[in-house]
Amino acid sequence: MKQYNQIKAKYPDAMLLFRVGDFYETFGQDAVKASNVLNIILTKRGKDSPSEIELAGFPHHSLDTYLPKLVRAGIRVAICDQLEDPKMTKTIVKRGVTELVTPGLSYNDKVLNGNENNFLAAVHFDGNRAGVAFIDISTGEFLVAEGGFEYIDKLIQSFAPKEILYQKGKQKIYHEHFSDKFYTYNLEDWVFTLDFAQENLEKHFEVKSLKGFGIDTLPLAIISASAALHYIAQTQHDKLGHIKQLSRLEEDRYVWLDRFTIRNLELLYSQNEGATTLIDIIDKTLTPPGSRMMRRWMVLPLKDLAPIQERHHIVKHYLEHNDFKSTIETQLKEVGDLERIIAKVATTRINPKEIIQLKRALVAIDPIKTACAEAKSKVLPLLGDQLNLCVALRSRIENEILDEPAISVGKGPIIAEGISPELDDLREILANGKQYLEDMRLREVERTGISSIKIAFNNVFGYYIEVRNSHKDKVPEDWIRKQTLVNAERYITEELKEYESKILGAEEKIHVLESNLLADLVYSMADFITPIQHNAVILAKLDCLHAFAEVATKNNYSAPEINDSLIIDIKEGRHPVIENQLPIGEPFIANDVMLDNDSQQIIMITGPNMSGKSALLRQTALICLMAQIGSYVPAKSAKLGLIDKIFTRVGASDNISSGESTFMVEMNETASILNNLSERSLIILDEIGRGTSTYDGISIAWSITEYLHENKIARPKTLFATHYHELNEMSGTFNRIKNHNVSIKEVGNKIIFMRKLVPGGSAHSFGIHVAKMAGMPAQVLKRADQILLQLEKSHSGDLKEEVKAIAADANMQLSFFQLDDPVLMQIKEEIENIDINTLTPVEALMKLNEIKKYMGVK
Ligand code: ADP
Ligand code: MG
Repeated sequence: MKQYNQIKAKYPDAMLLFRVGDFYETFGQDAVKASNVLNIILTKRGKDSPSEIELAGFPHHSLDTYLPKLVRAGIRVAICDQLEDPKMTKTIVKRGVTELVTPGLSYNDKVLNGNENNFLAAVHFDGNRAGVAFIDISTGEFLVAEGGFEYIDKLIQSFAPKEILYQKGKQKIYHEHFSDKFYTYNLEDWVFTLDFAQENLEKHFEVKSLKGFGIDTLPLAIISASAALHYIAQTQHDKLGHIKQLSRLEEDRYVWLDRFTIRNLELLYSQNEGATTLIDIIDKTLTPPGSRMMRRWMVLPLKDLAPIQERHHIVKHYLEHNDFKSTIETQLKEVGDLERIIAKVATTRINPKEIIQLKRALVAIDPIKTACAEAKSKVLPLLGDQLNLCVALRSRIENEILDEPAISVGKGPIIAEGISPELDDLREILANGKQYLEDMRLREVERTGISSIKIAFNNVFGYYIEVRNSHKDKVPEDWIRKQTLVNAERYITEELKEYESKILGAEEKIHVLESNLLADLVYSMADFITPIQHNAVILAKLDCLHAFAEVATKNNYSAPEINDSLIIDIKEGRHPVIENQLPIGEPFIANDVMLDNDSQQIIMITGPNMSGKSALLRQTALICLMAQIGSYVPAKSAKLGLIDKIFTRVGASDNISSGESTFMVEMNETASILNNLSERSLIILDEIGRGTSTYDGISIAWSITEYLHENKIARPKTLFATHYHELNEMSGTFNRIKNHNVSIKEVGNKIIFMRKLVPGGSAHSFGIHVAKMAGMPAQVLKRADQILLQLEKSHSGDLKEEVKAIAADANMQLSFFQLDDPVLMQIKEEIENIDINTLTPVEALMKLNEIKKYMGVK
């Protein structure tokens, strides 16, 4: 317990798994927590003594089962192992923490999800700028960025790290600027100093300057990157040979999607649980690295024509060359998670089965390389050129490792025959032990003529030859007498002893030999980390583009024409997600959308609720975005001038469920658009201004639109969906605003949604129709109609007066129902006192007349 307490003191905020024999034990509060999370039994040690303490443990071989559960529960886990063989020591066995597993740091395949990166992030901020680093130790990816808070926060939301590090004492600033939905951890101040950071990075990458990474002028990025590396080392992850690159995420290389856009367009996640997102539709990749790359592409759409066109070109090649497509397809399925496997080489966690998987991947690269080289294309041969077959490594694995090796040393044979004569001998000995002895016996029988020779074994002197006394005289000189029995003698021979030393512990020796040979192979594999990582990136790219081709065929997408004009011209566009979700028999209605900076900069879209306004807005943004990540698009045709920023804002009540839907938030969000406009921006405003009263809302929506139209710097293309038909007035004054509406048909009392976008505004609002569809009581609907009519008829232009008049009207009607009205009370009393059974018709008439008089009616 003393040893335990000493180690535990070093990891106060982690759960310490303390290896005791074949178990990992937890003590005290750790045990209480572990028993809860893992559902294992909590017991007590030293019961009823002063040193009583809670205890919970599990067998060491179950670590793979229990560890992921702890990590997923957000617990940091320090794994404390026995550092020496208990048999070799007389005192207490040496123990130490060999790994600190945290949500952001894990190699465990059960914790990791193949389709997602397991990023650890570190952020550092100063003034109004921040730096961020993302590192995935399971793949070796290492990315940094520096910029304004908004940019950094957006990256954090896009990369969704499993853990974020920042400086102690900076909680307040952190929470002010960054989403609080992530697991965080604080590091000491000194970690976040530039001198330390620079030295730390230079040491890790073995370079004299950080210029080569293009980050030498980004101090906040450098500090973040170093903090992440420092944390990794601090948590006993010291084998980082696979972290060879540091890439900068340049803000101006990618389309700016603010965090609201990533959320509103439901690219990766949806607010509604279980809802389909765009990634679900287009991620048809065949390998985990492909899938991870697809997620990255999704949030980092390209802004330059050439690389976008290159991606489209490859998708097209897939579509037009079925043999090429099927070759790549077949081979990619063989590749597996090349990136994570090669990372395991660096961390020496690779097992023999994974080595074979690596070989299988290298074998698969061969036909892929050939197919690319032979492709009639200007880019594919160049890609193929970059694939490295790693022939030396491949043939070493082929030669040295069995095709179906055991999962680890000791569980069966791993190393192939012919690699080590010693190993082959040992295996031979083990396999043919009996035969060998028998052969030897027969040889000795022949040599000596003693037919009754026996070979046997005892614990005192091992293998021996036994000869009955009657044959003693035939024993050759080179036999050495060991023991004399009553009627027999026992001998050993040189050969027998040699054999014995071979067979005794042969198994143990086999394990040592195999371990060494395996370690040697893994060690030499380290030379191939860089080319294999590079291969993985190229294969992932081929995989993503193959997925685009696949999805294009399946969903009937077309090749977009990307150009550097300022025009967006979509013919028969569809919403990629909604069209997939519609019930059978309900077709998706395609729509044309044209936006430019000169004649139709802003489209004001009106239409009743549920008519399809939001769908239309989002599909337009999605089509532009898909095109710029290299995908084909759900449209008959699309001519798309490059977009450099996409902004989307959804009026407060549309995302009320997220709990932040105050009007203030809506206005804040909108303000950031107005300050970041560009000529190539696409702005999607969905019911902006509806979070406040009607006239407030209309005024704000109006002025935002006017600002976008009259802006001197840029004329951003804008789609504005609104149910305020009053905004249709704007097109009269502002000539680049055009009114459209999503058409409906009114049949009797019913509305049929045509879902077609047609030119022109809407004459009136549709709220009452919708209320009717929702089954509101007729009385409520009738009254609403009356008030609407009264409002619309009013030409005074003074809403206040009008509402007052309606209220006065309403008052008079309401008083009829007011029970404390004395007249009403009297009438009620009168009616109650009437005995209908005795009342004559004339009396009834007279009573009615009386009641009328009470009410002052003549
Ligand atoms: P609005 O924003 O006008 O209230 P939405 O865009 O949210 O309406 O559309 C409401 C529903 O109508 C969507 O969830 C979708 O199921 C369906 N829908 C929208 N547009 C189309 C379309 N073009 N074709 C078929 N169904 C559509
Ligand atoms: Mg809507």
